[in-house]
Amino acid sequence: MFDAIIIGAGPAGLSAASILGRCCRQVLVLNTAVYRNSAAQALHGYLTRDGVGPLEFLQIARDQLARYDTVNVRQAEVVDVRSIGEGFEVILRDGIVLSCRKLLIATGVVDALPPLVGIDALYGRSVFHCPYCDAWEYRGQALAIYGQGKHGKRLAFELTAWSNDLVLCTDGPAGLDEHDLARLAKHSVPVREDRIERLDGENGRLQRIMFAGDSSMSSPVTVASSAALCSSALQSVKRPVWRSNLVVRSMTKVRWRPASMNPPIFQVCMSREMRRERYNW
Ligand SMILES: Cc1cc2nc3c(=O)[nH]c(=O)nc-3n(C[C@H](O)[C@H](O)[C@H](O)COP(=O)(O)OP(=O)(O)OC[C@H]3O[C@@H](n4cnc5c(N)ncnc54)[C@H](O)[C@@H]3O)c2cc1C
Repeated sequence: MFDAIIIGAGPAGLSAASILGRCCRQVLVLNTAVYRNSAAQALHGYLTRDGVGPLEFLQIARDQLARYDTVNVRQAEVVDVRSIGEGFEVILRDGIVLSCRKLLIATGVVDALPPLVGIDALYGRSVFHCPYCDAWEYRGQALAIYGQGKHGKRLAFELTAWSNDLVLCTDGPAGLDEHDLARLAKHSVPVREDRIERLDGENGRLQRIMFAGDSSMSSPVTVASSAALCSSALQSVKRPVWRSNLVVRSMTKVRWRPASMNPPIFQVCMSREMRRERYNW
């Protein structure tokens, strides 16, 4: 029986493994081959690692953990967990059952992009969701923000820190009242309610936002990646589902960049600290 099994070898899971391993606890970290920011070209806003590729960042962490014989990282998908007496059983995709005294779920979130034609090839390259991660590289440029209602409005105001050439694209009714519109106008942020037909780009670079009258799009959402993990024994560990606004930014003609997630904006450093707060090991 392991002292702890950590599901997820992202920054949060690996960080927890580092501390637990150094506390002489036998730790097993389980992870699928998927990682959240795989679409990103580089990591920003993390001290000592600014500009590093996300995969390289994870590899550095794993290399450093390799010197601890108390920590084992294994590629395996967890399909269920259940409580057993004082501990837990963790069931893997291939049917193997592992047991542990403590279980830490660090499976992160999955970003569900809005169903915009063309967005997949651009996300992480010229369409982003987090201004703190990626807006610096486009400071002072023309940016398009995608979002409706209070989320779109908030994102637009946030982005004024990086540029004064903004347009809020709501892809339909903006969902804003006169007061909101007046505030946006005061900050010189025009609101465009035209439906978005598709995003045109080349080599990952957004070139045009094509508007049309017959397409529609709902708010993008960020959903928990492992809702299926929440067996009855772990109801209290259900992960929240965050709604997010995809902020698309456009450079001159029409170039998008995504912007932030709603409530909290998760960054690598936050994911480490929040896990520490949440799980009182
Ligand atoms: C495009 C993009 C760009 C970003 N840029 C930055 C940036 O520049 N700076 C910054 O600080 N942050 C950035 N972020 C945010 C950063 O990626 C996250 O905050 C961070 O990855 C969260 O770490 P985590 O460990 O909580 O979750 P994740 O990194 O999502 O790790 C969770 C892990 O759990 C594993 N997992 C999930 N389900 C299972 C299962 N059932 N069984 C086994 N394993 C499972 C997954 O394989 C994954 O590796 C970016 C995010 C995105 C999407």
